[in-house]
Amino acid sequence: MNEPIAPQIKALAKQYAPAFIVIRRHLHAHPELSYQEYNTSTFVQQQLSDLNIPFELKATTGVIGLLEGKNPGKRVVALRADMDALPIMEENDVPYKSTVPGVMHACGHDVHTSCLLGAAKILSELREHWEGTVKLIFQPGEEKNPGGASLLIKEGVLENPAPQSIYGLHVHTTLDTGKLSFRGGMVMASADEIYITLKGPGGHAAAPQFTADLVLIASHLVVSLQQIISRNNSPFNPSVLSITSFQGGNTTNVIPSEVKLMGTFRAMNEEWRFKAHDLIKKLSRELVESMGANIDIRIDVGYPFVLNNEALSAAAKKAAAQYLGKENVEETELRMGAEDFAFYSHRVPACFFRLGTRNEAKGITIGGHTPTFDVDEDAIETGMGIMALFGATNGE
Ligand SMILES: [Zn+2]
Ligand SMILES: [Zn+2]
Repeated sequence: MNEPIAPQIKALAKQYAPAFIVIRRHLHAHPELSYQEYNTSTFVQQQLSDLNIPFELKATTGVIGLLEGKNPGKRVVALRADMDALPIMEENDVPYKSTVPGVMHACGHDVHTSCLLGAAKILSELREHWEGTVKLIFQPGEEKNPGGASLLIKEGVLENPAPQSIYGLHVHTTLDTGKLSFRGGMVMASADEIYITLKGPGGHAAAPQFTADLVLIASHLVVSLQQIISRNNSPFNPSVLSITSFQGGNTTNVIPSEVKLMGTFRAMNEEWRFKAHDLIKKLSRELVESMGANIDIRIDVGYPFVLNNEALSAAAKKAAAQYLGKENVEETELRMGAEDFAFYSHRVPACFFRLGTRNEAKGITIGGHTPTFDVDEDAIETGMGIMALFGATNGE
Protein backbone atom coordinates (compact mmCIF):
# COMPACT_ATOMS: atom_id res chain seq x y z
CA MET A 1 0.00 0.00 0.00
CA ASN A 2 1.05 3.60 -0.37
CA GLU A 3 1.71 4.44 3.25
CA PRO A 4 2.55 1.98 6.01
CA ILE A 5 -0.57 1.00 7.87
CA ALA A 6 0.90 0.41 11.33
CA PRO A 7 1.17 4.11 12.29
CA GLN A 8 -2.40 4.70 11.11
CA ILE A 9 -3.63 1.78 13.21
CA LYS A 10 -1.66 3.02 16.18
CA ALA A 11 -3.16 6.50 15.95
CA LEU A 12 -6.71 5.16 15.69
CA ALA A 13 -6.16 2.74 18.58
CA LYS A 14 -5.08 5.67 20.73
CA GLN A 15 -8.01 7.77 19.58
CA TYR A 16 -10.68 5.11 20.10
CA ALA A 17 -9.36 3.26 23.16
CA PRO A 18 -11.42 5.33 25.63
CA ALA A 19 -14.63 4.30 23.84
CA PHE A 20 -13.68 0.64 24.05
CA ILE A 21 -12.82 0.95 27.73
CA VAL A 22 -16.41 2.13 28.16
CA ILE A 23 -17.53 -0.95 26.22
CA ARG A 24 -15.36 -3.20 28.37
CA ARG A 25 -16.96 -1.75 31.48
CA HIS A 26 -20.42 -2.36 30.07
CA LEU A 27 -19.54 -5.99 29.28
CA HIS A 28 -17.87 -6.41 32.65
CA ALA A 29 -20.95 -5.15 34.47
CA HIS A 30 -23.19 -7.54 32.50
CA PRO A 31 -21.40 -10.90 32.42
CA GLU A 32 -23.06 -14.04 31.08
CA LEU A 33 -22.12 -17.67 31.63
CA SER A 34 -20.85 -20.02 28.92
CA TYR A 35 -23.37 -20.67 26.12
CA GLN A 36 -25.74 -18.08 27.60
CA GLU A 37 -24.08 -14.99 26.11
CA TYR A 38 -27.39 -13.70 24.68
CA ASN A 39 -27.10 -10.03 25.63
CA THR A 40 -23.40 -9.96 24.85
CA SER A 41 -24.14 -11.43 21.44
CA THR A 42 -26.84 -8.85 20.77
CA PHE A 43 -24.46 -6.10 21.86
CA VAL A 44 -21.74 -7.35 19.50
CA GLN A 45 -24.24 -7.63 16.64
CA GLN A 46 -25.31 -4.03 17.23
CA GLN A 47 -21.70 -2.84 17.19
CA LEU A 48 -21.00 -4.64 13.91
CA SER A 49 -24.21 -3.30 12.39
CA ASP A 50 -23.14 0.24 13.34
CA LEU A 51 -19.91 -0.38 11.41
CA ASN A 52 -21.78 -1.84 8.42
CA ILE A 53 -20.01 -5.16 8.91
CA PRO A 54 -22.16 -8.11 7.80
CA PHE A 55 -22.31 -11.03 10.20
CA GLU A 56 -23.94 -14.38 10.78
CA LEU A 57 -24.76 -16.27 13.96
CA LYS A 58 -23.36 -19.69 14.80
CA ALA A 59 -23.70 -21.91 17.88
CA THR A 60 -26.65 -19.71 19.00
CA THR A 61 -24.70 -16.81 20.50
CA GLY A 62 -21.58 -16.80 18.32
CA VAL A 63 -21.23 -13.80 15.98
CA ILE A 64 -19.10 -14.16 12.86
CA GLY A 65 -18.39 -10.87 11.08
CA LEU A 66 -16.87 -10.58 7.65
CA LEU A 67 -14.93 -7.40 6.97
CA GLU A 68 -13.55 -6.82 3.50
CA GLY A 69 -10.65 -4.56 2.69
CA LYS A 70 -9.41 -3.80 -0.81
CA ASN A 71 -8.95 -6.88 -2.97
CA PRO A 72 -10.93 -9.12 -0.55
CA GLY A 73 -9.81 -12.32 -2.28
CA LYS A 74 -6.15 -11.74 -1.49
CA ARG A 75 -6.27 -13.55 1.84
CA VAL A 76 -8.55 -14.32 4.76
CA VAL A 77 -7.35 -13.74 8.31
CA ALA A 78 -9.46 -14.81 11.29
CA LEU A 79 -9.41 -12.91 14.59
CA ARG A 80 -11.05 -14.55 17.56
CA ALA A 81 -12.42 -13.28 20.88
CA ASP A 82 -14.27 -15.29 23.51
CA MET A 83 -17.26 -13.72 25.28
CA ASP A 84 -18.23 -15.85 28.29
CA ALA A 85 -17.85 -15.19 32.01
CA LEU A 86 -17.38 -17.44 35.05
CA PRO A 87 -19.57 -18.54 37.98
CA ILE A 88 -17.69 -16.37 40.50
CA MET A 89 -19.06 -13.66 42.80
CA GLU A 90 -17.11 -10.47 42.13
CA GLU A 91 -15.49 -8.89 45.19
CA ASN A 92 -13.99 -5.83 43.50
CA ASP A 93 -15.38 -2.49 44.57
CA VAL A 94 -15.37 -0.74 41.20
CA PRO A 95 -18.01 1.30 39.35
CA TYR A 96 -18.23 -1.41 36.67
CA LYS A 97 -18.62 -4.27 39.15
CA SER A 98 -20.71 -7.20 37.94
CA THR A 99 -24.43 -6.57 38.30
CA VAL A 100 -25.16 -10.29 38.07
CA PRO A 101 -24.77 -12.07 41.41
CA GLY A 102 -22.42 -15.05 41.15
CA VAL A 103 -21.28 -14.28 37.60
CA MET A 104 -18.08 -12.41 36.78
CA HIS A 105 -15.74 -11.69 33.90
CA ALA A 106 -12.82 -13.14 35.87
CA CYS A 107 -10.83 -14.36 32.87
CA GLY A 108 -10.80 -11.11 30.88
CA HIS A 109 -13.08 -12.23 28.07
CA ASP A 110 -14.79 -8.84 28.35
CA VAL A 111 -11.42 -7.35 27.40
CA HIS A 112 -10.97 -9.79 24.52
CA THR A 113 -14.39 -8.90 23.10
CA SER A 114 -13.70 -5.18 23.49
CA CYS A 115 -10.31 -5.47 21.78
CA LEU A 116 -11.83 -7.29 18.83
CA LEU A 117 -14.65 -4.76 18.52
CA GLY A 118 -11.99 -2.04 18.64
CA ALA A 119 -9.98 -3.79 15.93
CA ALA A 120 -13.15 -4.04 13.81
CA LYS A 121 -13.69 -0.30 14.16
CA ILE A 122 -10.09 0.48 13.14
CA LEU A 123 -10.08 -1.98 10.24
CA SER A 124 -13.40 -0.76 8.97
CA GLU A 125 -12.24 2.86 9.03
CA LEU A 126 -9.05 1.90 7.18
CA ARG A 127 -10.65 -0.53 4.77
CA GLU A 128 -9.27 1.30 1.74
CA HIS A 129 -5.76 0.86 3.14
CA TRP A 130 -5.43 -2.90 3.56
CA GLU A 131 -6.04 -5.94 1.43
CA GLY A 132 -7.94 -9.14 2.05
CA THR A 133 -10.81 -10.22 4.26
CA VAL A 134 -10.93 -10.35 8.04
CA LYS A 135 -13.19 -12.86 9.73
CA LEU A 136 -14.20 -11.62 13.16
CA ILE A 137 -15.06 -14.54 15.44
CA PHE A 138 -16.93 -13.63 18.63
CA GLN A 139 -17.10 -17.00 20.30
CA PRO A 140 -19.29 -18.41 23.07
CA GLY A 141 -18.40 -20.94 25.74
CA GLU A 142 -14.62 -20.94 26.10
CA GLU A 143 -14.77 -21.83 29.78
CA LYS A 144 -16.86 -24.98 29.51
CA ASN A 145 -16.71 -28.26 27.63
CA PRO A 146 -17.10 -29.01 24.80
CA GLY A 147 -15.75 -25.49 24.08
CA GLY A 148 -17.48 -22.94 21.89
CA ALA A 149 -14.63 -23.21 19.39
CA SER A 150 -15.48 -26.86 18.70
CA LEU A 151 -19.14 -25.95 18.12
CA LEU A 152 -18.28 -23.10 15.76
CA ILE A 153 -15.94 -25.37 13.79
CA LYS A 154 -18.73 -27.96 13.47
CA GLU A 155 -20.94 -25.18 12.15
CA GLY A 156 -18.38 -24.24 9.52
CA VAL A 157 -16.62 -21.18 10.95
CA LEU A 158 -13.40 -22.22 9.21
CA GLU A 159 -15.08 -22.42 5.80
CA ASN A 160 -16.69 -19.96 3.36
CA PRO A 161 -14.27 -18.30 3.31
CA ALA A 162 -11.57 -20.46 4.87
CA PRO A 163 -9.03 -18.40 6.84
CA GLN A 164 -5.37 -19.01 6.11
CA SER A 165 -4.44 -18.01 9.64
CA ILE A 166 -6.11 -17.29 12.95
CA TYR A 167 -5.09 -15.05 15.86
CA GLY A 168 -6.38 -14.94 19.42
CA LEU A 169 -5.23 -12.93 22.40
CA HIS A 170 -5.58 -13.54 26.11
CA VAL A 171 -5.01 -11.16 28.99
CA HIS A 172 -1.95 -12.07 31.04
CA THR A 173 -1.72 -11.08 34.68
CA THR A 174 2.02 -11.65 34.95
CA LEU A 175 2.88 -9.40 32.00
CA ASP A 176 2.92 -5.61 32.35
CA THR A 177 0.44 -3.45 30.47
CA GLY A 178 1.80 -2.26 27.15
CA LYS A 179 3.53 -5.58 26.53
CA LEU A 180 2.69 -8.64 24.46
CA SER A 181 4.16 -12.12 24.53
CA PHE A 182 4.39 -14.80 21.86
CA ARG A 183 5.53 -18.39 21.56
CA GLY A 184 5.78 -20.83 18.67
CA GLY A 185 4.83 -24.50 18.95
CA MET A 186 3.10 -25.76 22.06
CA VAL A 187 1.83 -23.09 24.43
CA MET A 188 -0.94 -24.55 26.55
CA ALA A 189 -2.01 -28.06 27.46
CA SER A 190 -4.86 -30.38 26.63
CA ALA A 191 -7.18 -30.94 29.58
CA ASP A 192 -9.24 -34.05 30.21
CA GLU A 193 -11.36 -34.80 33.26
CA ILE A 194 -11.12 -38.10 35.13
CA TYR A 195 -14.06 -39.52 37.09
CA ILE A 196 -13.57 -42.76 39.03
CA THR A 197 -16.11 -44.58 41.20
CA LEU A 198 -15.02 -47.58 43.27
CA LYS A 199 -17.63 -49.94 44.61
CA GLY A 200 -17.32 -52.94 46.90
CA PRO A 201 -18.62 -54.61 50.01
CA GLY A 202 -18.12 -52.18 52.86
CA GLY A 203 -18.67 -53.16 56.45
CA HIS A 204 -17.46 -52.90 60.01
CA ALA A 205 -14.09 -51.24 60.33
CA ALA A 206 -13.15 -53.82 62.97
CA ALA A 207 -13.65 -56.68 60.49
CA PRO A 208 -11.86 -55.63 57.29
CA GLN A 209 -11.49 -59.26 56.24
CA PHE A 210 -15.17 -59.24 55.22
CA THR A 211 -14.87 -56.10 53.09
CA ALA A 212 -13.03 -54.65 50.15
CA ASP A 213 -11.47 -51.63 51.80
CA LEU A 214 -12.14 -48.95 49.20
CA VAL A 215 -10.28 -46.24 51.11
CA LEU A 216 -7.13 -48.35 51.04
CA ILE A 217 -7.68 -49.39 47.41
CA ALA A 218 -8.33 -45.82 46.30
CA SER A 219 -5.22 -44.70 48.17
CA HIS A 220 -3.13 -47.25 46.29
CA LEU A 221 -4.74 -46.06 43.08
CA VAL A 222 -3.91 -42.39 43.70
CA VAL A 223 -0.28 -43.30 44.33
CA SER A 224 -0.05 -45.72 41.40
CA LEU A 225 -1.58 -43.29 38.91
CA GLN A 226 1.34 -40.93 39.49
CA GLN A 227 3.67 -43.56 38.07
CA ILE A 228 1.98 -43.43 34.68
CA ILE A 229 3.50 -40.09 33.84
CA SER A 230 6.83 -40.62 35.61
CA ARG A 231 7.43 -44.08 34.07
CA ASN A 232 5.63 -44.13 30.71
CA ASN A 233 6.05 -40.62 29.39
CA SER A 234 9.20 -39.04 28.01
CA PRO A 235 10.73 -36.59 30.51
CA PHE A 236 10.84 -34.12 27.62
CA ASN A 237 7.10 -34.27 27.08
CA PRO A 238 5.16 -31.92 29.41
CA SER A 239 2.31 -33.76 31.10
CA VAL A 240 0.59 -33.67 34.48
CA LEU A 241 -1.98 -35.77 36.30
CA SER A 242 -3.62 -34.47 39.46
CA ILE A 243 -6.18 -36.35 41.50
CA THR A 244 -8.07 -33.47 43.00
CA SER A 245 -10.98 -35.04 44.83
CA PHE A 246 -11.20 -38.09 47.11
CA GLN A 247 -14.64 -38.71 48.58
CA GLY A 248 -15.66 -41.69 50.66
CA GLY A 249 -16.85 -42.63 54.11
CA ASN A 250 -18.12 -40.35 56.84
CA THR A 251 -17.36 -41.94 60.17
CA THR A 252 -14.66 -43.85 62.07
CA ASN A 253 -16.02 -47.36 62.27
CA VAL A 254 -17.48 -48.05 58.83
CA ILE A 255 -15.57 -49.11 55.72
CA PRO A 256 -17.55 -47.37 52.95
CA SER A 257 -19.02 -49.21 50.00
CA GLU A 258 -18.32 -46.39 47.58
CA VAL A 259 -15.36 -44.04 47.04
CA LYS A 260 -15.18 -41.41 44.30
CA LEU A 261 -12.07 -39.83 42.82
CA MET A 262 -11.80 -36.95 40.37
CA GLY A 263 -8.85 -35.45 38.64
CA THR A 264 -7.40 -33.76 35.61
CA PHE A 265 -4.93 -35.00 33.02
CA ARG A 266 -2.95 -32.56 30.88
CA ALA A 267 -0.55 -33.01 28.02
CA MET A 268 0.98 -31.31 25.01
CA ASN A 269 1.08 -34.23 22.61
CA GLU A 270 -2.03 -35.79 21.14
CA GLU A 271 -0.51 -39.24 20.69
CA TRP A 272 0.69 -39.43 24.30
CA ARG A 273 -2.58 -37.94 25.48
CA PHE A 274 -4.72 -40.81 24.23
CA LYS A 275 -2.13 -43.46 25.07
CA ALA A 276 -2.18 -42.10 28.63
CA HIS A 277 -5.97 -42.36 28.75
CA ASP A 278 -5.67 -46.07 27.93
CA LEU A 279 -2.95 -46.54 30.55
CA ILE A 280 -4.95 -44.72 33.22
CA LYS A 281 -8.01 -46.89 32.52
CA LYS A 282 -6.04 -50.15 32.32
CA LEU A 283 -4.03 -49.58 35.49
CA SER A 284 -7.11 -48.42 37.40
CA ARG A 285 -9.17 -51.44 36.40
CA GLU A 286 -6.43 -53.99 37.02
CA LEU A 287 -5.38 -52.56 40.37
CA VAL A 288 -8.90 -52.13 41.73
CA GLU A 289 -10.14 -55.50 40.52
CA SER A 290 -7.04 -57.30 41.82
CA MET A 291 -7.92 -55.92 45.25
CA GLY A 292 -11.49 -57.17 45.10
CA ALA A 293 -13.48 -54.07 44.20
CA ASN A 294 -15.36 -52.80 41.16
CA ILE A 295 -14.55 -49.69 39.22
CA ASP A 296 -16.30 -47.33 36.89
CA ILE A 297 -13.87 -44.96 35.17
CA ARG A 298 -14.73 -42.22 32.74
CA ILE A 299 -12.40 -39.75 31.07
CA ASP A 300 -14.15 -36.71 29.63
CA VAL A 301 -12.10 -35.56 26.68
CA GLY A 302 -11.68 -31.78 26.78
CA TYR A 303 -9.64 -29.39 24.65
CA PRO A 304 -6.49 -30.41 22.78
CA PHE A 305 -3.22 -28.57 23.47
CA VAL A 306 -2.70 -25.15 21.88
CA LEU A 307 -0.32 -25.48 18.96
CA ASN A 308 1.05 -22.20 17.64
CA ASN A 309 2.35 -22.20 14.10
CA GLU A 310 6.08 -21.47 14.37
CA ALA A 311 6.41 -19.28 11.27
CA LEU A 312 3.21 -17.34 11.89
CA SER A 313 4.07 -16.75 15.56
CA ALA A 314 7.60 -15.63 14.72
CA ALA A 315 6.27 -13.20 12.11
CA ALA A 316 3.63 -11.92 14.52
CA LYS A 317 6.22 -11.41 17.22
CA LYS A 318 8.43 -9.46 14.81
CA ALA A 319 5.52 -7.32 13.64
CA ALA A 320 4.54 -6.69 17.27
CA ALA A 321 8.11 -5.62 18.09
CA GLN A 322 7.99 -3.11 15.24
CA TYR A 323 4.58 -1.87 16.39
CA LEU A 324 5.32 -1.62 20.13
CA GLY A 325 9.10 -1.58 20.37
CA LYS A 326 11.30 -4.59 20.98
CA GLU A 327 11.38 -4.00 24.73
CA ASN A 328 7.63 -4.57 24.90
CA VAL A 329 7.53 -8.01 23.31
CA GLU A 330 8.43 -11.12 25.25
CA GLU A 331 8.40 -14.89 24.98
CA THR A 332 5.32 -16.54 26.51
CA GLU A 333 6.12 -19.16 29.12
CA LEU A 334 4.72 -22.68 28.78
CA ARG A 335 1.61 -23.25 30.85
CA MET A 336 -0.40 -26.37 31.61
CA GLY A 337 -3.67 -24.44 31.56
CA ALA A 338 -6.10 -25.15 28.72
CA GLU A 339 -7.84 -22.97 26.18
CA ASP A 340 -10.35 -23.94 23.51
CA PHE A 341 -8.53 -21.82 20.90
CA ALA A 342 -6.65 -25.13 20.63
CA PHE A 343 -9.39 -26.51 18.37
CA TYR A 344 -8.67 -23.88 15.73
CA SER A 345 -4.92 -24.29 16.18
CA HIS A 346 -4.97 -27.90 14.98
CA ARG A 347 -6.81 -26.92 11.78
CA VAL A 348 -5.45 -23.54 10.72
CA PRO A 349 -2.00 -21.96 11.22
CA ALA A 350 -2.58 -20.21 14.52
CA CYS A 351 -1.07 -17.63 16.84
CA PHE A 352 -2.41 -17.43 20.38
CA PHE A 353 -0.64 -14.64 22.19
CA ARG A 354 -0.73 -12.76 25.48
CA LEU A 355 -1.78 -9.22 26.26
CA GLY A 356 -0.14 -7.80 29.37
CA THR A 357 -2.70 -6.38 31.82
CA ARG A 358 -0.63 -6.21 34.99
CA ASN A 359 0.09 -2.89 36.66
CA GLU A 360 1.70 -3.04 40.03
CA ALA A 361 1.52 0.73 40.55
CA LYS A 362 -2.27 0.53 40.19
CA GLY A 363 -2.40 -2.58 42.40
CA ILE A 364 -3.53 -4.79 39.51
CA THR A 365 -1.66 -8.05 40.04
CA ILE A 366 -4.29 -10.68 40.90
CA GLY A 367 -4.50 -13.82 38.75
CA GLY A 368 -7.47 -14.91 36.69
CA HIS A 369 -10.48 -16.97 37.89
CA THR A 370 -10.49 -15.17 41.25
CA PRO A 371 -13.14 -12.84 42.80
CA THR A 372 -10.69 -9.92 42.82
CA PHE A 373 -9.31 -10.29 39.29
CA ASP A 374 -9.14 -7.10 37.24
CA VAL A 375 -7.11 -5.71 34.37
CA ASP A 376 -5.29 -2.47 33.67
CA GLU A 377 -7.62 -1.09 31.01
CA ASP A 378 -4.77 0.78 29.31
CA ALA A 379 -4.04 -2.62 27.74
CA ILE A 380 -7.12 -2.28 25.54
CA GLU A 381 -5.37 0.26 23.31
CA THR A 382 -2.56 -2.25 22.76
CA GLY A 383 -4.94 -5.17 22.25
CA MET A 384 -7.24 -3.51 19.73
CA GLY A 385 -4.30 -2.09 17.81
CA ILE A 386 -2.39 -5.34 17.51
CA MET A 387 -5.47 -7.32 16.49
CA ALA A 388 -6.17 -4.72 13.79
CA LEU A 389 -2.55 -4.95 12.64
CA PHE A 390 -2.65 -8.74 12.35
CA GLY A 391 -5.99 -8.56 10.53
CA ALA A 392 -4.67 -6.00 8.04
CA THR A 393 -1.24 -7.51 7.44
CA ASN A 394 -1.25 -11.12 8.71
CA GLY A 395 1.99 -10.18 10.44
CA GLU A 396 3.76 -9.55 7.13
ZN1 LIG B 1 -10.59 -18.78 31.97
ZN1 LIG C 1 -9.85 -17.17 29.30
